[in-house]
Amino acid sequence: MLREKITAAGRLGETGRAGHGPAMPTTPPSPREKKRFREIFDRFEAAMPDPRTELTYASPFTLLVAVVLSAQATDVSVNKATPALFAAADTPQKMLALGAEGVAPLISAIGLFNTKARNVVALSRILVEQYGGAVPLRREALQALPGVGRKTASVVLNELGVEPAIAVDTHVFRVAHRLGLSRARTPDLVEADLMAIVPKAGLTRAHHWLILHGRYVCVARKPACGRCPVADLCPSRELFTGG
Ligand code: SF4
Repeated sequence: MLREKITAAGRLGETGRAGHGPAMPTTPPSPREKKRFREIFDRFEAAMPDPRTELTYASPFTLLVAVVLSAQATDVSVNKATPALFAAADTPQKMLALGAEGVAPLISAIGLFNTKARNVVALSRILVEQYGGAVPLRREALQALPGVGRKTASVVLNELGVEPAIAVDTHVFRVAHRLGLSRARTPDLVEADLMAIVPKAGLTRAHHWLILHGRYVCVARKPACGRCPVADLCPSRELFTGG
């Protein structure tokens, strides 16, 4: 019954979600759609066999900080700021010693830098006081940190190979809809749909495939359908090419 309700929420564009765990997938795909999905991910794999995050990091802590800083900001802007930040503080202990007043000027080119500086220092304090300076690689523990939501935790866990996850940002959301991989109206429900249809072998890479495809090919305003590796499998292509 709960699953039916959530399925309906996904189709109708409501924001239904059960608790803090992953949402349930919306309508299961037909065999024909499954075949199309497989082909799409096969092609992404052929085009990007070893996709990586574009954020620069050297440890779980610097990855976590970089992902927190990247919320509503570009990876490029984060990568410009983090060399100086990590030169000054590449451990929770050093970040805590630097303090928000020390962090803020180093990340001032990134949106919401004051809030992010406070969060980075607050989460560093928790890592020092509760985890001996280590990053807890568990979803609940990560999501309890200041500035860390489900999406950030997913990126960190997936990137470090702890737990396959597809963090649904604006690029993933757009590509999933254009390719007809999901019709759900919330990131959590799109994530559930994607987790249900991506072939197992591609689960840890699917997040990168979809983000990179959205960032460089299926861009928001004028998608480059002419050089899209899955154009013949895309139900939205005609909208942009006129046929
Ligand atoms: S064909 Fe165009 S709209 Fe469809 S996925 Fe490719 S770039 Fe995006």
